[in-house]
Amino acid sequence: MKIAILPGDGIGKEIVAEAVLVLSALDLSFETETALVGGAAFEAHGHPLPETTLALAKSADAILFGAVGDWKYDTLERPLRPEQAILGLRKHLGLFANFRPAICYEQLVDASSLKPELIAGLDILIIRELTGDIYFGQPRGRRTAVDGHFPGSEEAFDTMRYSRPEVERIAHVAFQAARKRSKRVTSVDKSNVLETFQFWRDVVTEVGGQYPDVALDHMYVDNAAMQLVRAPKKFDVVVTGNMFGDILSDEAAMLTGSIGMLPSASLNAAGQGLYEPSHGSAPDIAGKGIANPLATILSAAMMLRFSLNQAQAADRIEAAVRSVLSQGLRTADIHSPGTTLVGTRAMGQAVVKALGK
Ligand code: NAD
Repeated sequence: MKIAILPGDGIGKEIVAEAVLVLSALDLSFETETALVGGAAFEAHGHPLPETTLALAKSADAILFGAVGDWKYDTLERPLRPEQAILGLRKHLGLFANFRPAICYEQLVDASSLKPELIAGLDILIIRELTGDIYFGQPRGRRTAVDGHFPGSEEAFDTMRYSRPEVERIAHVAFQAARKRSKRVTSVDKSNVLETFQFWRDVVTEVGGQYPDVALDHMYVDNAAMQLVRAPKKFDVVVTGNMFGDILSDEAAMLTGSIGMLPSASLNAAGQGLYEPSHGSAPDIAGKGIANPLATILSAAMMLRFSLNQAQAADRIEAAVRSVLSQGLRTADIHSPGTTLVGTRAMGQAVVKALGK
């Protein structure tokens, strides 16, 4: 097993270091190789996704990714900005299926801005299509070259499109995931207004015919945004396009209290995956040793389960995370009165210690 470690920028380095310590404590045999990505790679090699980093990512069984980006790169032309590294990895590796579980740990019920009864026991899975939709539409190249503007023109536009194979494959992923859970899929679209999403709805319905044991319903995205805060536990697996998924998965993340708790997996057809926390590089707290490493540690657990066939080891990590929360340990983002405030390193070490129990 070979794992590419790409810590990236900001808190990326701090949180990935803790996840690597946790992986090392598991007594599994795997090889790791670390490379620069994002702003760190731009500084060293003049590009956010250097050829060597891409080659390492392609050759690995799985990638553990921290986060990229810093406001200081906002004036760079778009293809050189750190965020292009993650888009490039998704594109080059064909990572079309993004899994974002939103789980509310019972110990953190009070950290959510919603009433405890609405989110206690919450366990939903948002599956976002990651390589199509408006983010990969036609004018992308032209717009990129001139930094968001068409000089001398009075308008800008982006093209929303999906092809049948793109919708079919993400629908299959969702139905198969639902089979391992409570056998319900909600497909989120905007078919009342957009042709692209009428097509999406038709294709998802067709694919659903192959999964008679899974219940499928459809919901417009505006209603889904509302229902996620009104009655989130009514959802189980949610499947949606790239842009709607981007927005809804961040909304779902906050239901659980902190984005610092939420892992994600992005998979390709071969099961190779990139695993990263749902949050960004948090430049506001970088270097202070206070970032929550649990989303990254839980991403490492997803990596063991989805790409490395080590489900038991993944269970052990998840149990260890529950254990440290039960001990009352909290980083600043999830801290509340009566709990013990710890930093990034102490939280990582506590998870390692809990693994041994
Ligand atoms: P962010 O997710 O980095 O931070 C949002 C807020 O959440 C901040 O207040 C931050 O301190 C807090 N936060 C995030 N992760 C945390 C953690 N583990 N522990 C405690 N608090 C945490 O989003 P942003 O501020 O909008 O973006 C910062 C940079 O990250 C930008 O350059 C953006 O483009 C980039 N970004 C990268 C990715 C990625 O690498 N996949 C994703 C999103 C944003």
